[in-house]
Amino acid sequence: MTIKTALLSVSDKTGIVELARALQSRGVKILSTGGTAALLKKEGLEVTEVAEHTQSPEILDGRVKTLHPRIHGGLLARRDSQAHLDTLKSNNIDPIDLLVVNLYPFRETIAKPGCSFADAVENIDIGGPAMLRAAAKNHGTREGGVTVVIDPTDYEAVLRELDENGATSYGLRLSLAKKVYAHTAAYDGAIANYLSAITDDEPAQENEPARQSWPQTLTIQLKQHQALRYGENPHQSAAFYLDTSVPAGVLGNYEQLQGKELSYNNIADADAAWECVRTFEAPACVIVKHANPCGVAVAQDAAEAYRKAFKTDPTSAFGGIIAFNRIVDEATAQAVSEQFVEVLLAPEYTDDALVLLANKKNVRVLTVALGAGQNPFDVKRVGGGWLVQNPDHKPLAAADCKVVTRKQPTAQQMDDLLFAWNVAQFVKSNAIVFCRDGMTYGVGAGQMSRIDSARIASIKAGNAGLSLKNTAAASDAFFPFRDGLDVIVEAGADCIIQPGGSMRDDEVIAAADEHGIAMVLTGTRHFRH
Ligand code: 5GP
Repeated sequence: MTIKTALLSVSDKTGIVELARALQSRGVKILSTGGTAALLKKEGLEVTEVAEHTQSPEILDGRVKTLHPRIHGGLLARRDSQAHLDTLKSNNIDPIDLLVVNLYPFRETIAKPGCSFADAVENIDIGGPAMLRAAAKNHGTREGGVTVVIDPTDYEAVLRELDENGATSYGLRLSLAKKVYAHTAAYDGAIANYLSAITDDEPAQENEPARQSWPQTLTIQLKQHQALRYGENPHQSAAFYLDTSVPAGVLGNYEQLQGKELSYNNIADADAAWECVRTFEAPACVIVKHANPCGVAVAQDAAEAYRKAFKTDPTSAFGGIIAFNRIVDEATAQAVSEQFVEVLLAPEYTDDALVLLANKKNVRVLTVALGAGQNPFDVKRVGGGWLVQNPDHKPLAAADCKVVTRKQPTAQQMDDLLFAWNVAQFVKSNAIVFCRDGMTYGVGAGQMSRIDSARIASIKAGNAGLSLKNTAAASDAFFPFRDGLDVIVEAGADCIIQPGGSMRDDEVIAAADEHGIAMVLTGTRHFRH
C-alpha cells in the first residue's frame, strides 16, 4: 500500500523528527496533533495540524483532539470497497495510510512516587488507542490497508519497505497490527489494575486515593519469550512467557551464550539459583538441583566459592545448575567444567573463561544481570485460579535477631547463622540447613516433618564426608516441640537460628539451654512450597 498521508501523534517523541523528514522527502503529507506538530514545525517540517484538517479545534485540555470522522473515516474505510471510498469522497475525507501513535505514559505516571489520582486519570489516553485500534483493524488485505506503528523501533522497517517496494507489505502491516492490540490490551490492563485497587469507601481524593492492597481484578499480559521442547516431563508441551509489566533486571533478561536449548526444568532451576545467589554480597556460588540448593558458599573469589559449594553434596551437584554473583574467570570456569554441569549462570564471563567453556559444548552458559528487580507478585496455580502474594523478600541483619539462650553466639557463629538463614529461605519447606565458615554442610529439604529434614541433612553431610560438629543450623519455621532441636544438636550444631513463635517456645529454649548452645529468634518465617 503506497502512503500518501500519514498521521503522527506521539507522546514519546523519540525518532519522530527523523521519521517525519524521511516521509516528507518521499512526498508523504503529514498530519499531526498539537505537541507533535509544534516539534515538527520547529524542525522546519511542513505539517498540517489535525485541528486544521478537521476544522475542529483541540478541546477539553486535549481530551478531544483526533476523535473526528475525518480522522476515523480516513483510518477505517476499507481500501477494497468502492462504496467506502465513495463515501470518503462524498464526505470530503482523505484516506490516512500511515498512523504513528504512542500513548500517554499511563504506566510511567502511576509508577512515580506520590502520583495523584487526578494525574493518573489525565494520563489515560483516549484518542490514541481509538486511532490505533481503528488503523490496526483496517490493516487490510494483500491488496492494501493501513500501516500502524506504535513502537519507534519499527520506523525503520516501514521506511525500508517504502524504499524497496514503494509500499508496505501485508506481512508488515499484519505484524504491526498484532503489536498494536497487544499494546492497547496491556495499556487497558494497567488502567484496570490501577482503578480496581481503589475502593469507593470514600471519594477518590486528588492526592490520596483509598487503596486496597490487592486489586479486585488482576489483568496481566504475558508475552511468549520462548517455545520449549517440552514441559516438566516429555509428554507435556510448554512455553516460557514473560510478564510485560516486570521491569528489566530479572531472570527473563538472560542471554544464552552457548549450549543446548534451555528446557522447562532448566529455566525453573536457573531461577531458583539466581534468586538465591543475588542475595549475597560476598562472592557466592549456588548449586541447584530440582529447585533446591544442594550447595551454597561464599568465599574470597568465585572459584573458591564453587569448590566449597560443591563439597556440600557432590552426588547431587552432578548435572546441577550453577549460579555466581561475580564474573566467572578462567579459574572458576576450569573448576566448574571438571564436573557435569547443565546450566551455568553469572552476570559476566572473562574471554578466557568463555574460550574454556566453549570446549564443553553442551553446557548452557547464560549471562543474567543480578538486578534489583523483583517480581511484583508471586503466583501459585491452584484448580481454577491463582494464589497471589508479595514475593518473600525480607533481608535479616544481626540487629534483627533476638538471642534467647544463656549462651550468646560468637561473632563467627552469628555470621554462620545469618548465612544459614539466608540459604534456608531458598530451600523448600520443611527446611533445615547446617552451615559453617560461609558454606552449607547439610541441606534437608521438602520433608513433611521438620525432624526428618534435620535427619536427612545429617545423613547427607555424612555421605559427603562432612562433620556437622560446631555448625550453625537454620530452621525455616519454628520448632513445635523440642524433638527437632534435639536431633539438630545431636547431629553436631552448636547454634541455631529459627523464627520462634511456637506455643512451646519456652520448652524449646529450655532445651537449647540444657544442650548449652546459643539460639537466636528472627520473628520471621520463610515457608517455601
Ligand atoms: P501531542 O503531544 O501531539 O499534543 O499529543 C500526542 C498524544 O496525544 C499521543 O500520545 C496520542 O495518543 C494522544 N491523542 C491523540 N488524539 C487524542 C485525543 O483525541 N484524545 C486524547 N485524550 N489523546 C489523544
